[in-house]
Amino acid sequence: MSSENPISDDALREEVRAWLAEHWSPEQAQALEGKQLLWGATGELKNWLGKVVEARWAVPTWPVEWFGRGSSAVQAKIIAREFAAVRAPGAGQDRSSMWANTLLARGTEALKAELLGPILKSEVNMCLLYSEPNAGSDLAGIRTRADRKGDHFVVNGQKVWTSGAANADYGMLIARTDWDVPKHSGISFFFLPMKQPGIEVRPLRQITDESHFNEVFITDAIVPADNLLGDVNTGWKVLQTALAYERSILGDAARGARSGAKESLKEEVLIALAREAGVLENPELRQDIAQAIAYKKLNALNNARVKADLQQGTTSPAMSLGKLAMSRILHEEARVRTAILGAQSLFEGSDHPRAEDANFLTFNAYFTSIGGGTDQIQRNIIGERVLGLPKEPEIDTAIPFRDVRKG
Ligand SMILES: Cc1cc2nc3c(=O)[nH]c(=O)nc-3n(C[C@H](O)[C@H](O)[C@H](O)COP(=O)(O)OP(=O)(O)OC[C@H]3O[C@@H](n4cnc5c(N)ncnc54)[C@H](O)[C@@H]3O)c2cc1C
Repeated sequence: MSSENPISDDALREEVRAWLAEHWSPEQAQALEGKQLLWGATGELKNWLGKVVEARWAVPTWPVEWFGRGSSAVQAKIIAREFAAVRAPGAGQDRSSMWANTLLARGTEALKAELLGPILKSEVNMCLLYSEPNAGSDLAGIRTRADRKGDHFVVNGQKVWTSGAANADYGMLIARTDWDVPKHSGISFFFLPMKQPGIEVRPLRQITDESHFNEVFITDAIVPADNLLGDVNTGWKVLQTALAYERSILGDAARGARSGAKESLKEEVLIALAREAGVLENPELRQDIAQAIAYKKLNALNNARVKADLQQGTTSPAMSLGKLAMSRILHEEARVRTAILGAQSLFEGSDHPRAEDANFLTFNAYFTSIGGGTDQIQRNIIGERVLGLPKEPEIDTAIPFRDVRKG
């Protein structure tokens, strides 16, 4: 089970297959399809995730004391493939959960003991309390404050665009803990309990007619000092760890159409749609479809490169390319779908599912090109960290944050 007691790839494959054969059925696959909510899980799914975590399939590369097996990345992939083959969720969270990975990397032992299990089992819901009305792209400009009072901190401020805040039990919060040092040096990173009187969540309505993000008003909310990740004032570093996980996830996967979310991004879908609409022979559309498919292939190869880097223990700046590429793919996919449908895309409602999907994808493409850092910011990162271009001028990084001009 551990790296001291290695198991061959074949033996591992047999073990996971036997476990799935005993615990999982095609009926469950059908019953749980679509039950994975964007910001939480249903009761049946939680039940299943609990079994996966206890059997140590959820995060096999993690240490044995934290639900893992000390497996190699290659063996983790074998496990994830076996789960995917029978459409069983829950494996591969050592790659896909930014909450769990950030907590494992930077949390106190007490916080890990309290929350790692519940996060992996989806027993608690999480949100990201980063953006503020005047600090989105420049996260180092945040003004929400956390002041130490004995064994806890008192938090005051406002966050915005907080996905999933309405259902969240904890938020990964960045707050200013020192106003007399330059802006990157006075930030701390916390797991803030959301269900307490000092936190008011107000939903925002999106262009897709959903309300998955919110404004969060924080007034004298309490966070225990044990819920600090990293040391006081080193939150910027912790944030970089968390953002790297977020970018790699957003670059690797994307949310698709409301109906058949995953299928919407498969390359055959555009071809099938064009065939159904009788326009597959149109040379211009054929070019567009080929281009959209080529982008996806290219992005998949780039993501494979990032994963290979990660497996060798190096973080790859190419992660930013993945997120930027995914944003372009989603816009392109939506554009080509609309072109295939032509005037039909003007319809809406359940009688016109194809048009509904195309329009939803058009609006939803902005999710990836703004959320988790905008395309422009990704380009800056790629320019500076991948291409080695000069940094953009920064006038406020060396002065105490208290003296930075506001507004
Ligand atoms: C669907 C969705 C979900 C989100 N979920 C969350 C969440 O859960 N938690 C959370 O904290 N936040 C969340 N956000 C917020 C998101 O991270 C911010 O919207 C994003 O970082 C941009 O910040 P801003 O909106 O303040 O825009 P601004 O920073 O005001 O930027 C405005 C425009 O200026 C450009 N710009 C700014 N600075 C530069 C620069 N230096 N160089 C070039 N261009 C620049 C930007 O790219 C953008 O086009 C979410 C956003 C979306 C769309």
